[in-house]
Amino acid sequence: MSPRPPMHALTGECLLAACEQAQGEHPLLRPLTLLAAAMPTHDRQALLELPLGARDRLLLELRRLSFGPTLRGYASCPQCGTGMEFGLEVAEALQTIAATDQPTSVGWHEAGMDLQLRQATTADLLACARTPMPAQAVRSLLARCLGVSASSVDTDQRVDLPSVRAHFDRLHADSEWRCVLRCPQCTHEDIWNLDIGDFIWIEARHAARRLLTDIHTLAMHYGWSEPAIAALSQQRRDAYLELLGA
Ligand SMILES: [Zn+2]
Repeated sequence: MSPRPPMHALTGECLLAACEQAQGEHPLLRPLTLLAAAMPTHDRQALLELPLGARDRLLLELRRLSFGPTLRGYASCPQCGTGMEFGLEVAEALQTIAATDQPTSVGWHEAGMDLQLRQATTADLLACARTPMPAQAVRSLLARCLGVSASSVDTDQRVDLPSVRAHFDRLHADSEWRCVLRCPQCTHEDIWNLDIGDFIWIEARHAARRLLTDIHTLAMHYGWSEPAIAALSQQRRDAYLELLGA
């Protein structure tokens, strides 16, 4: 495995610029725009073609670097509506991934055919997102990951094998983050599926809005420029805001 290109935290002007760009993009592209901003020496096309498991590992590392070690989220109980908070330790999630050492592809022989299936990439998901029917989109995705293109009897035979879907699910088990949430009010248990890309985009957008608010307040009081305030650490901005009683 080649060493990972250097990654820096998403802060200051880099955070603002990345969020501005990502805002107008397809939701599947937003996490990649954040990664590209934090890994300027990395080729964006290579990020598009990264298996989802590897993409999620990079996103978890970016999350830890930029926003701290614990993912915190909120959900409402579907039974009684009580708000629930949950936390997921990034280090634990990365350790679990490293321990399972999920393969990026699998090959097997079945029904007289040699089959090879690889993990999906963001490029695959984007191509299939344009397919209007969900069932057809799944078939297109499986066909792409099987390395078969045009629809033909042979393609249909391969895509429709039950083992293909089972192998696909196993290849992507690491990309599915599930937390079991137990409601403190009515004890109802619910499974919360966490999409790490969506999650980090929401956090980045929130951090960017907070930074803009800080810039606005500090610029009003001190007359400092936007780049100067954006370059300050969050701790230093907080210290000045505290002095202002903001
Ligand atoms: Zn409840």
